[in-house]
Amino acid sequence: MRPEQLKFQTRAIHVGNPPDPQTGAVVPPIHPATTFVQPGAGDWGTFDYSRSGNPTRTAVQTTLASLEGGCGALAFSSGMAATHCATMLLSAGDHLLAGMDIYGGTYRLLHKICSSVGIQVQTIDLSDPANVARAIRDNTKMLWLEGIGNPRLTVPDLPALIEVAHDHELLVGVDNTFATPVLQRPLEWGADIVMHSATKYLGGHSDCLAGVLAVRDQDLLDRLYFIQNATGAVLSPFDCFLLARGLKTLQLRINQQCRSAQQLALFLENHPQVKNVLYPGLPSHPDHERASQLLDGGFGGMITLEAEGDFETTRRLVKSTRLFHLAVSLGAVESLIEQPASMSHASYDAAARAEAGITDGLIRLSVGLEHPKDLIQDLDQALTGS
Ligand SMILES: *Cc1c(COP(=O)(O)O)cnc(C)c1O
Repeated sequence: MRPEQLKFQTRAIHVGNPPDPQTGAVVPPIHPATTFVQPGAGDWGTFDYSRSGNPTRTAVQTTLASLEGGCGALAFSSGMAATHCATMLLSAGDHLLAGMDIYGGTYRLLHKICSSVGIQVQTIDLSDPANVARAIRDNTKMLWLEGIGNPRLTVPDLPALIEVAHDHELLVGVDNTFATPVLQRPLEWGADIVMHSATKYLGGHSDCLAGVLAVRDQDLLDRLYFIQNATGAVLSPFDCFLLARGLKTLQLRINQQCRSAQQLALFLENHPQVKNVLYPGLPSHPDHERASQLLDGGFGGMITLEAEGDFETTRRLVKSTRLFHLAVSLGAVESLIEQPASMSHASYDAAARAEAGITDGLIRLSVGLEHPKDLIQDLDQALTGS
Protein backbone atom coordinates (compact mmCIF):
# COMPACT_ATOMS: atom_id res chain seq x y z
CA MET A 1 0.00 0.00 0.00
CA ARG A 2 1.22 3.51 -0.81
CA PRO A 3 1.59 5.65 2.33
CA GLU A 4 -0.90 8.26 1.12
CA GLN A 5 -3.60 5.57 0.97
CA LEU A 6 -3.16 4.75 4.66
CA LYS A 7 -5.26 6.34 7.38
CA PHE A 8 -3.81 9.06 9.63
CA GLN A 9 -3.30 6.79 12.64
CA THR A 10 -1.47 4.19 10.54
CA ARG A 11 0.76 6.81 8.92
CA ALA A 12 1.61 8.24 12.35
CA ILE A 13 3.07 4.85 13.23
CA HIS A 14 4.56 3.60 9.95
CA VAL A 15 5.57 6.53 7.70
CA GLY A 16 9.15 7.54 8.50
CA ASN A 17 9.52 4.55 10.82
CA PRO A 18 10.66 1.55 8.75
CA PRO A 19 12.43 -1.21 10.72
CA ASP A 20 16.18 -0.63 10.83
CA PRO A 21 17.59 -2.58 7.82
CA GLN A 22 20.77 -3.54 9.70
CA THR A 23 19.28 -4.90 12.93
CA GLY A 24 15.55 -5.28 12.32
CA ALA A 25 14.85 -2.92 15.23
CA VAL A 26 11.24 -1.75 14.92
CA VAL A 27 12.20 1.67 16.25
CA PRO A 28 14.68 3.55 14.05
CA PRO A 29 17.92 4.29 15.94
CA ILE A 30 18.88 7.71 17.30
CA HIS A 31 21.85 9.00 15.29
CA PRO A 32 23.90 11.33 17.49
CA ALA A 33 26.69 11.71 14.90
CA THR A 34 27.41 15.31 13.94
CA THR A 35 29.46 14.37 10.87
CA PHE A 36 29.33 11.61 8.28
CA VAL A 37 32.10 9.95 6.26
CA GLN A 38 32.16 11.13 2.64
CA PRO A 39 32.58 8.81 -0.35
CA GLY A 40 35.29 11.18 -1.62
CA ALA A 41 36.48 14.77 -1.27
CA GLY A 42 33.73 17.08 -2.53
CA ASP A 43 31.54 14.05 -3.07
CA TRP A 44 28.62 14.48 -0.68
CA GLY A 45 26.75 11.39 0.48
CA THR A 46 23.13 11.51 1.67
CA PHE A 47 24.29 13.04 4.95
CA ASP A 48 27.40 15.10 5.56
CA TYR A 49 26.94 17.32 8.62
CA SER A 50 24.14 17.14 11.16
CA ARG A 51 22.96 20.76 10.88
CA SER A 52 22.35 20.15 7.17
CA GLY A 53 20.75 16.76 7.68
CA ASN A 54 20.51 13.91 10.16
CA PRO A 55 18.84 10.50 9.66
CA THR A 56 16.80 10.76 12.88
CA ARG A 57 15.58 14.21 11.84
CA THR A 58 14.78 13.02 8.32
CA ALA A 59 12.69 10.20 9.78
CA VAL A 60 10.50 12.44 11.94
CA GLN A 61 10.23 15.05 9.18
CA THR A 62 8.92 12.34 6.87
CA THR A 63 6.20 11.44 9.38
CA LEU A 64 5.31 15.10 9.96
CA ALA A 65 5.01 15.84 6.23
CA SER A 66 2.69 12.88 5.82
CA LEU A 67 0.44 13.89 8.73
CA GLU A 68 0.08 17.49 7.51
CA GLY A 69 -0.28 16.45 3.87
CA GLY A 70 2.82 18.38 2.79
CA CYS A 71 5.63 17.65 0.32
CA GLY A 72 8.08 17.98 3.18
CA ALA A 73 8.64 19.24 6.71
CA LEU A 74 11.47 20.74 8.74
CA ALA A 75 12.07 20.15 12.45
CA PHE A 76 13.35 23.07 14.54
CA SER A 77 14.72 23.51 18.05
CA SER A 78 11.54 25.34 19.12
CA GLY A 79 8.26 26.63 17.77
CA MET A 80 9.60 30.18 17.79
CA ALA A 81 12.61 29.10 15.71
CA ALA A 82 10.18 27.62 13.16
CA THR A 83 8.08 30.80 12.99
CA HIS A 84 11.21 32.95 12.81
CA CYS A 85 12.46 30.88 9.87
CA ALA A 86 9.18 31.47 8.03
CA THR A 87 9.37 35.24 8.62
CA MET A 88 12.92 35.24 7.22
CA LEU A 89 11.32 34.65 3.81
CA LEU A 90 10.48 38.37 4.00
CA SER A 91 12.84 41.32 3.54
CA ALA A 92 13.03 44.86 4.88
CA GLY A 93 10.16 46.90 3.45
CA ASP A 94 7.78 43.93 3.15
CA HIS A 95 4.44 44.07 4.94
CA LEU A 96 3.19 41.16 7.06
CA LEU A 97 -0.40 40.74 8.25
CA ALA A 98 -1.05 38.70 11.37
CA GLY A 99 -4.15 37.67 13.24
CA MET A 100 -4.90 39.53 16.45
CA ASP A 101 -5.51 36.32 18.38
CA ILE A 102 -1.96 34.96 18.36
CA TYR A 103 0.48 33.37 20.80
CA GLY A 104 2.25 35.94 23.00
CA GLY A 105 5.71 34.85 21.82
CA THR A 106 4.67 35.23 18.18
CA TYR A 107 3.37 38.71 18.95
CA ARG A 108 6.76 39.55 20.48
CA LEU A 109 8.73 38.02 17.58
CA LEU A 110 6.72 40.00 15.02
CA HIS A 111 6.68 43.31 16.90
CA LYS A 112 10.18 43.30 18.38
CA ILE A 113 12.36 41.23 16.06
CA CYS A 114 10.72 41.37 12.62
CA SER A 115 9.89 45.09 13.01
CA SER A 116 13.47 45.83 14.00
CA VAL A 117 14.79 44.46 10.69
CA GLY A 118 12.36 46.62 8.70
CA ILE A 119 9.42 44.26 8.15
CA GLN A 120 6.15 46.17 8.55
CA VAL A 121 3.91 44.21 10.90
CA GLN A 122 0.18 44.77 11.23
CA THR A 123 -2.18 42.72 13.40
CA ILE A 124 -5.80 42.57 12.31
CA ASP A 125 -9.13 41.07 13.28
CA LEU A 126 -9.64 37.97 11.13
CA SER A 127 -13.30 37.38 11.97
CA ASP A 128 -14.20 38.82 8.56
CA PRO A 129 -12.01 37.88 5.53
CA ALA A 130 -12.87 41.30 4.05
CA ASN A 131 -10.63 42.83 6.76
CA VAL A 132 -7.68 41.07 5.13
CA ALA A 133 -8.61 42.28 1.67
CA ARG A 134 -8.83 45.86 3.00
CA ALA A 135 -5.48 45.67 4.82
CA ILE A 136 -3.47 44.34 1.85
CA ARG A 137 -0.98 46.81 0.40
CA ASP A 138 1.34 46.61 -2.62
CA ASN A 139 4.15 45.36 -0.38
CA THR A 140 2.10 42.80 1.61
CA LYS A 141 3.85 39.44 1.36
CA MET A 142 2.49 37.19 4.09
CA LEU A 143 -0.54 36.40 6.19
CA TRP A 144 0.21 34.66 9.49
CA LEU A 145 -2.59 33.25 11.60
CA GLU A 146 -3.56 30.52 14.03
CA GLY A 147 -5.95 27.70 13.09
CA ILE A 148 -7.55 28.00 16.52
CA GLY A 149 -6.84 31.42 18.04
CA ASN A 150 -5.16 32.03 21.35
CA PRO A 151 -6.49 32.44 24.04
CA ARG A 152 -10.12 33.10 23.01
CA LEU A 153 -10.21 29.95 20.87
CA THR A 154 -11.56 31.71 17.83
CA VAL A 155 -11.89 29.56 14.72
CA PRO A 156 -11.19 31.74 11.68
CA ASP A 157 -12.63 30.90 8.29
CA LEU A 158 -9.32 29.50 7.05
CA PRO A 159 -10.43 28.45 3.55
CA ALA A 160 -11.89 31.92 2.89
CA LEU A 161 -8.88 33.74 4.37
CA ILE A 162 -6.46 31.63 2.32
CA GLU A 163 -8.42 32.43 -0.83
CA VAL A 164 -8.36 36.19 -0.20
CA ALA A 165 -4.64 36.08 0.57
CA HIS A 166 -3.88 34.04 -2.54
CA ASP A 167 -5.91 36.42 -4.72
CA HIS A 168 -3.22 38.92 -3.75
CA GLU A 169 -0.32 36.44 -4.03
CA LEU A 170 0.44 36.44 -0.33
CA LEU A 171 2.11 33.50 1.37
CA VAL A 172 -0.17 32.04 4.03
CA GLY A 173 1.34 30.58 7.20
CA VAL A 174 -0.90 28.83 9.70
CA ASP A 175 0.19 28.11 13.25
CA ASN A 176 -1.63 24.79 13.69
CA THR A 177 -0.42 24.14 17.25
CA PHE A 178 -3.85 24.16 18.93
CA ALA A 179 -5.75 22.24 16.23
CA THR A 180 -3.06 19.71 15.26
CA PRO A 181 -3.35 17.81 11.95
CA VAL A 182 -5.87 15.50 13.66
CA LEU A 183 -8.50 18.28 13.64
CA GLN A 184 -7.43 20.36 10.66
CA ARG A 185 -4.89 20.24 7.85
CA PRO A 186 -4.55 23.76 6.40
CA LEU A 187 -2.24 22.66 3.55
CA GLU A 188 -5.23 20.79 2.08
CA TRP A 189 -7.05 24.15 1.89
CA GLY A 190 -4.11 25.71 0.07
CA ALA A 191 -2.12 27.23 2.94
CA ASP A 192 1.56 27.47 2.01
CA ILE A 193 3.13 26.80 5.40
CA VAL A 194 1.90 25.02 8.50
CA MET A 195 3.81 25.72 11.70
CA HIS A 196 3.76 23.84 15.00
CA SER A 197 5.05 24.32 18.43
CA ALA A 198 5.65 20.57 18.61
CA THR A 199 6.46 21.25 22.27
CA LYS A 200 2.68 21.01 22.75
CA TYR A 201 0.39 18.32 21.33
CA LEU A 202 2.77 16.73 18.80
CA GLY A 203 5.36 15.88 21.44
CA GLY A 204 2.57 15.65 23.97
CA HIS A 205 4.49 14.83 27.15
CA SER A 206 6.02 18.16 28.31
CA ASP A 207 9.51 16.77 27.76
CA CYS A 208 10.60 18.01 24.35
CA LEU A 209 10.92 21.57 23.02
CA ALA A 210 10.46 21.49 19.24
CA GLY A 211 9.07 23.33 16.24
CA VAL A 212 7.89 22.29 12.80
CA LEU A 213 7.26 23.83 9.41
CA ALA A 214 5.40 21.70 6.87
CA VAL A 215 4.89 22.97 3.32
CA ARG A 216 2.96 22.12 0.20
CA ASP A 217 5.39 23.24 -2.47
CA GLN A 218 8.91 21.91 -3.12
CA ASP A 219 10.30 25.28 -4.12
CA LEU A 220 9.17 26.85 -0.84
CA LEU A 221 10.54 23.85 1.08
CA ASP A 222 13.94 24.41 -0.58
CA ARG A 223 13.92 28.10 0.38
CA LEU A 224 13.01 27.33 4.00
CA TYR A 225 15.57 24.54 4.18
CA PHE A 226 18.21 26.97 2.94
CA ILE A 227 17.30 29.46 5.69
CA GLN A 228 17.23 26.77 8.38
CA ASN A 229 20.59 25.37 7.35
CA ALA A 230 22.09 28.86 7.12
CA THR A 231 20.77 29.98 10.52
CA GLY A 232 21.02 26.66 12.32
CA ALA A 233 18.01 26.16 14.64
CA VAL A 234 17.63 22.43 13.95
CA LEU A 235 16.11 19.83 16.30
CA SER A 236 18.60 17.53 18.04
CA PRO A 237 18.46 13.78 17.24
CA PHE A 238 17.38 12.97 20.81
CA ASP A 239 14.47 15.39 20.63
CA CYS A 240 13.61 14.09 17.15
CA PHE A 241 13.23 10.68 18.76
CA LEU A 242 10.92 12.04 21.48
CA LEU A 243 8.85 13.89 18.91
CA ALA A 244 8.57 10.77 16.73
CA ARG A 245 7.43 8.78 19.75
CA GLY A 246 4.83 11.40 20.63
CA LEU A 247 3.40 11.41 17.10
CA LYS A 248 2.49 7.72 17.29
CA THR A 249 -0.20 8.41 19.90
CA LEU A 250 -1.20 11.87 18.66
CA GLN A 251 -4.60 10.90 17.32
CA LEU A 252 -5.52 8.81 20.37
CA ARG A 253 -4.51 11.59 22.71
CA ILE A 254 -6.32 14.33 20.79
CA ASN A 255 -9.51 12.29 20.52
CA GLN A 256 -9.58 11.73 24.27
CA GLN A 257 -8.58 15.31 25.07
CA CYS A 258 -11.45 16.58 22.88
CA ARG A 259 -13.93 14.30 24.65
CA SER A 260 -12.74 15.34 28.10
CA ALA A 261 -12.65 19.05 27.20
CA GLN A 262 -16.22 18.87 25.91
CA GLN A 263 -17.34 17.40 29.25
CA LEU A 264 -15.40 19.96 31.27
CA ALA A 265 -16.69 22.85 29.16
CA LEU A 266 -20.30 21.76 29.76
CA PHE A 267 -19.66 21.43 33.47
CA LEU A 268 -18.06 24.89 33.62
CA GLU A 269 -20.81 26.54 31.61
CA ASN A 270 -23.33 25.40 34.22
CA HIS A 271 -21.20 26.37 37.23
CA PRO A 272 -22.51 29.34 39.26
CA GLN A 273 -19.00 30.73 39.84
CA VAL A 274 -18.26 30.86 36.09
CA LYS A 275 -19.24 33.93 34.11
CA ASN A 276 -18.39 32.77 30.65
CA VAL A 277 -16.86 29.74 28.91
CA LEU A 278 -15.14 29.90 25.54
CA TYR A 279 -14.97 26.45 23.97
CA PRO A 280 -15.59 25.98 20.23
CA GLY A 281 -17.56 22.81 20.99
CA LEU A 282 -20.22 24.75 22.90
CA PRO A 283 -23.11 26.27 20.93
CA SER A 284 -22.48 29.46 22.96
CA HIS A 285 -19.06 29.98 21.33
CA PRO A 286 -19.26 32.70 18.65
CA ASP A 287 -17.50 30.42 16.13
CA HIS A 288 -19.25 27.17 17.05
CA GLU A 289 -20.95 26.69 13.70
CA ARG A 290 -17.81 27.32 11.70
CA ALA A 291 -15.80 25.10 14.03
CA SER A 292 -18.31 22.29 13.43
CA GLN A 293 -17.68 22.61 9.70
CA LEU A 294 -13.91 23.06 9.75
CA LEU A 295 -12.67 20.89 12.60
CA ASP A 296 -12.52 17.16 12.09
CA GLY A 297 -14.04 15.06 14.88
CA GLY A 298 -13.60 17.34 17.90
CA PHE A 299 -13.05 20.89 19.14
CA GLY A 300 -9.64 20.64 20.76
CA GLY A 301 -8.33 20.24 24.27
CA MET A 302 -8.18 23.92 25.27
CA ILE A 303 -10.85 25.77 27.25
CA THR A 304 -10.89 29.44 28.17
CA LEU A 305 -13.17 30.75 30.89
CA GLU A 306 -13.92 33.82 32.90
CA ALA A 307 -14.72 33.25 36.55
CA GLU A 308 -16.76 35.54 38.78
CA GLY A 309 -14.63 37.94 40.78
CA ASP A 310 -11.70 40.30 40.25
CA PHE A 311 -8.02 39.97 39.32
CA GLU A 312 -7.08 38.74 42.81
CA THR A 313 -9.85 36.11 42.85
CA THR A 314 -8.56 34.83 39.52
CA ARG A 315 -5.00 34.69 40.80
CA ARG A 316 -6.16 32.73 43.83
CA LEU A 317 -8.25 30.42 41.70
CA VAL A 318 -5.45 29.39 39.32
CA LYS A 319 -3.32 28.57 42.38
CA SER A 320 -5.95 26.46 44.08
CA THR A 321 -6.34 23.54 41.67
CA ARG A 322 -4.54 20.34 42.68
CA LEU A 323 -4.47 18.29 39.46
CA PHE A 324 -4.30 21.24 37.06
CA HIS A 325 -0.75 22.55 37.46
CA LEU A 326 -0.28 26.31 37.31
CA ALA A 327 2.01 26.60 34.30
CA VAL A 328 2.25 27.94 30.76
CA SER A 329 2.44 25.54 27.81
CA LEU A 330 -0.28 23.11 26.86
CA GLY A 331 -1.14 19.98 24.94
CA ALA A 332 0.49 17.36 27.15
CA VAL A 333 -0.79 14.43 29.19
CA GLU A 334 -1.03 16.50 32.39
CA SER A 335 -3.65 19.23 32.70
CA LEU A 336 -2.49 22.83 33.09
CA ILE A 337 -4.12 26.07 34.17
CA GLU A 338 -2.91 29.63 33.60
CA GLN A 339 -3.90 33.29 33.51
CA PRO A 340 -3.12 34.61 29.99
CA ALA A 341 -2.96 38.28 31.06
CA SER A 342 -0.05 37.64 33.44
CA MET A 343 1.48 34.55 31.81
CA SER A 344 1.15 33.37 28.18
CA HIS A 345 0.16 36.80 26.84
CA ALA A 346 2.24 39.00 29.15
CA SER A 347 4.35 40.08 26.15
CA TYR A 348 1.34 41.82 24.57
CA ASP A 349 1.22 45.53 25.43
CA ALA A 350 -1.83 46.52 27.50
CA ALA A 351 -3.75 48.10 24.61
CA ALA A 352 -3.26 45.05 22.38
CA ARG A 353 -4.37 42.80 25.23
CA ALA A 354 -7.57 44.78 25.62
CA GLU A 355 -8.17 44.75 21.87
CA ALA A 356 -7.70 40.97 21.73
CA GLY A 357 -10.14 40.51 24.64
CA ILE A 358 -7.53 39.18 27.07
CA THR A 359 -9.07 40.38 30.32
CA ASP A 360 -7.49 39.95 33.76
CA GLY A 361 -10.18 37.43 34.71
CA LEU A 362 -9.48 35.12 31.79
CA ILE A 363 -8.27 31.60 32.65
CA ARG A 364 -6.93 29.09 30.12
CA LEU A 365 -7.08 25.36 30.67
CA SER A 366 -5.16 22.70 28.82
CA VAL A 367 -7.06 19.47 29.35
CA GLY A 368 -4.78 16.48 29.78
CA LEU A 369 -5.39 12.76 29.91
CA GLU A 370 -6.42 12.37 33.54
CA HIS A 371 -9.93 10.99 34.09
CA PRO A 372 -12.39 13.79 33.28
CA LYS A 373 -14.34 13.15 36.49
CA ASP A 374 -11.24 13.86 38.57
CA LEU A 375 -10.61 17.03 36.58
CA ILE A 376 -14.18 18.21 37.08
CA GLN A 377 -13.94 17.62 40.81
CA ASP A 378 -10.67 19.55 40.94
CA LEU A 379 -12.16 22.56 39.14
CA ASP A 380 -15.26 22.42 41.30
CA GLN A 381 -13.30 22.58 44.57
CA ALA A 382 -11.17 25.44 43.21
CA LEU A 383 -14.16 27.46 41.97
CA THR A 384 -16.22 26.88 45.08
CA GLY A 385 -13.36 27.48 47.48
CA SER A 386 -11.99 30.73 46.01
C1 LIG B 1 4.03 27.49 22.47
C2 LIG B 1 3.52 28.10 21.22
C3 LIG B 1 4.39 28.66 20.28
C4 LIG B 1 5.90 28.75 20.53
O1 LIG B 1 6.50 27.51 20.51
P1 LIG B 1 7.80 27.13 21.39
O2 LIG B 1 7.96 25.69 21.12
O3 LIG B 1 7.48 27.46 22.80
O4 LIG B 1 8.91 27.97 20.88
C5 LIG B 1 3.86 29.18 19.11
N1 LIG B 1 2.53 29.14 18.87
C6 LIG B 1 1.66 28.62 19.75
C7 LIG B 1 0.21 28.61 19.43
C8 LIG B 1 2.11 28.09 20.96
O5 LIG B 1 1.25 27.59 21.83
